[in-house]
Amino acid sequence: MNMPKEMNRYCPKCKKHTLQKVSIYKAGKRRGSAIGERRHAEDKKGYGGQKFPKLAKPAKTTKKITPIMTCPECKKKWNTHGIRLRKLELVA
Ligand SMILES: [Zn+2]
Repeated sequence: MNMPKEMNRYCPKCKKHTLQKVSIYKAGKRRGSAIGERRHAEDKKGYGGQKFPKLAKPAKTTKKITPIMTCPECKKKWNTHGIRLRKLELVA
């Protein structure tokens, strides 16, 4: 799906419509030293570590893509609802 790079949308902070920039949310890099990551690695270690079979055939064929809106006037950013798509392209 194609989406415009800029959209005229309502900004809840400015309480008016502004020409907002659109970008796509990307998950941050996972740190191996984070406590949750270390605990998970410890849980999976040894006999009986894998608690459920690894998914051979995932049920979903698409992933949810979250567009992020940025207001140029107050610089506020917020995520919109995720859309299930194969690919989202930002076009001018
Ligand atoms: Zn604003």
